[in-house]
Amino acid sequence: MKFVGAHVSAAGGVENAPVNAHNIGATAFALFTKNQRQWKAKPLTEKSIQLFRERCDRYGFAPTQILPHDSYLINLGHPEQEALQKSRTAFIDEMERCMQLGLDRLNFHPGSHLRTISVTECLLRIAESINIALDKTEGVIAVIENTAGQGSNLGWQFEELAEIIEHVEDKSRVGVCLDTCHTFAAGYDLRTESACKTTFQQFADTVGFGYLEGMHLNDSKGELGSRKDRHHSLGQGEIGLEVFRFIMQDERFNNIPLILETIDESIWPEEIATLKMLEK
Ligand SMILES: [Zn+2]
Ligand SMILES: [Zn+2]
Repeated sequence: MKFVGAHVSAAGGVENAPVNAHNIGATAFALFTKNQRQWKAKPLTEKSIQLFRERCDRYGFAPTQILPHDSYLINLGHPEQEALQKSRTAFIDEMERCMQLGLDRLNFHPGSHLRTISVTECLLRIAESINIALDKTEGVIAVIENTAGQGSNLGWQFEELAEIIEHVEDKSRVGVCLDTCHTFAAGYDLRTESACKTTFQQFADTVGFGYLEGMHLNDSKGELGSRKDRHHSLGQGEIGLEVFRFIMQDERFNNIPLILETIDESIWPEEIATLKMLEK
């Protein structure tokens, strides 16, 4: 089965996200469980938690169809001790919120070395942060998103994702989310069927599809290898539609949340319908 949706709003409470997803014809969704631009958040209320679970049940969203995303402020590879600690604490809080909501995975951006420590040192720090978080929580998979490689953000090369995973102790609770825009901006071509075959084979050989716990489906405003994180609507950017047909027809992308983070949310229903059409 293919589960397709978008990163929907949770304004007014997490319990609104499954409704917003249902209203655009989604069979998957992503959400922030707290304000993504603030460090602190009030704990989820019992009522919010209960309503969220009820509505997910009602609209048929199982945990494998939901991909919560952590705060943009968190940097699990931060070079400075105090800031690293702050990030680790916030990340554990995000994992705990997922547990309360009955969710089984949390999508996050790996981290940045801020040109202060080496790439290797930063990757090890990220893995250590994941180990600490997994140790303090249960049942939630830490899902590392590949990046466009903008600034000093790590995780844009498949080898970096593999290196982080290699140092995570509990491999059953670490995974990867591939963002098509980030993949393309990082220099992996996705414009034709044969380019998709090559790129995803590289992913299979370096990381492995066993770790794939979600996808972000975005076209890209930036060119191949631009290292720019600039999303576009499907078929309107530099990548084009072929990669989305490829994903929808390839069973290695079954049974995980396939999430739009495209720029015009007013056309999400059409984009979801297009994806479902490409499946046939
Ligand atoms: Zn993304
Ligand atoms: Zn992005």
